[in-house]
Amino acid sequence: MPTTLTHKAALTNKTTLTNNNSMPINPGRPNTIQSQINVSGLSDVVQKIKVTFDIDHTWTGDLRISLLDPSGSRVVLANRRGGSSDDFKNVTFAQDAPISIHNAIPPFTGTYRPEGDLNDFKGRSPNGTWALEVRDLAFRDGGSLKSWTLELETQEAPSSQYNIDIRILGGLTPSQEDAFVIAANRWSSIIIGDVPDANLQGELIDDIKIDARGAFIDGVGGILGQAGPTWIRRGSFLPIAGVMTFDQDDLQKLEDDGLLLSVILHEMAHVIGFGTIWSDLGLLQGRGSINPTFTGRNAMQEFGHLLGTGSPTAVPVANTGGAGTRDSHWREAVFANELMTGFINQGVNPISRLTIASLADLGYQVNLEAADEYSLPNARMMAMMGVGVESGDHGGYGIILPTDYRVLD
Ligand SMILES: [Zn+2]
Repeated sequence: MPTTLTHKAALTNKTTLTNNNSMPINPGRPNTIQSQINVSGLSDVVQKIKVTFDIDHTWTGDLRISLLDPSGSRVVLANRRGGSSDDFKNVTFAQDAPISIHNAIPPFTGTYRPEGDLNDFKGRSPNGTWALEVRDLAFRDGGSLKSWTLELETQEAPSSQYNIDIRILGGLTPSQEDAFVIAANRWSSIIIGDVPDANLQGELIDDIKIDARGAFIDGVGGILGQAGPTWIRRGSFLPIAGVMTFDQDDLQKLEDDGLLLSVILHEMAHVIGFGTIWSDLGLLQGRGSINPTFTGRNAMQEFGHLLGTGSPTAVPVANTGGAGTRDSHWREAVFANELMTGFINQGVNPISRLTIASLADLGYQVNLEAADEYSLPNARMMAMMGVGVESGDHGGYGIILPTDYRVLD
């Protein structure tokens, strides 16, 4: 057996850049300012980001503050928080902060978790122009952006031999197409080993081909789309080809809600094999029962670490929901906002070491260090995230239909 887990002792580099040029935020009509920081000459990819700023303003509840990366992708840091309170005094936004700005009490100072997910920038090139955008959405009150600082932790990009070929077949906006490419880059930074080429109807596939499209299905809600493998390899069962089709109206709503990338990452994992080839590989126990579990060796070990016991433990799998949810996701009531539960959560949906280890159990060579920070939430955190009151599969955005797939001869 080849070894399937890689622990890269990647060297982390830190870069801190500050823009001290003060910019006024006019008290008149609603308006937007952007202050820029230029990053150049880094050969690594983004691992972690912190952003700190100092804003004087007499009504912080007027302000929507975002960080934009060089490609124009946006993460909302604070969205109209604090009501009539004054100023963001040297406020830092970091993904691992214990308090979310959503629950923070003004006056704002110190470190908060942002509204959006700074991990969205992970794995991407840091070079180019970053911008802190401050939108003042109300008529009265003003102030100034006094300074801001970008702290980048970068790492050498692990060279991946796993190639995800996305074929865009139309019906998607440019930003939606981008999300597919970003998601493919993320999974190929997680799965790093080559899989044997396959000859699919005369075409050599190295390593997987995914047809992506937007379509009119049934408007917002109802059916969100269809995703999964269409062809798998004989013997290893690893997918060769798959489809990801989404209802255009649902895509737009997901994008408006800042959840587009999370959903595309999630569905792409199904195409790669998460939840879809578990039974073929004999890794799912208790299918259809009240306690289905995933029994891959690597995932069981990571679950033991998450539990704090260190002893390998069968991983609880979704025991509720329709055919596209039960038996093919982590169990929401245990894992809450982890990306691969059957429900998308507002805010952050991390890819845990558990999910990556489960891909190793499918037979992929993976890099565990590419995981997002994740720990098991306690009951109170679960209640605060609204776990247990979801309105339907994938958090009320509609159901995803599974695919049928064939084994390539
Ligand atoms: Zn799913």
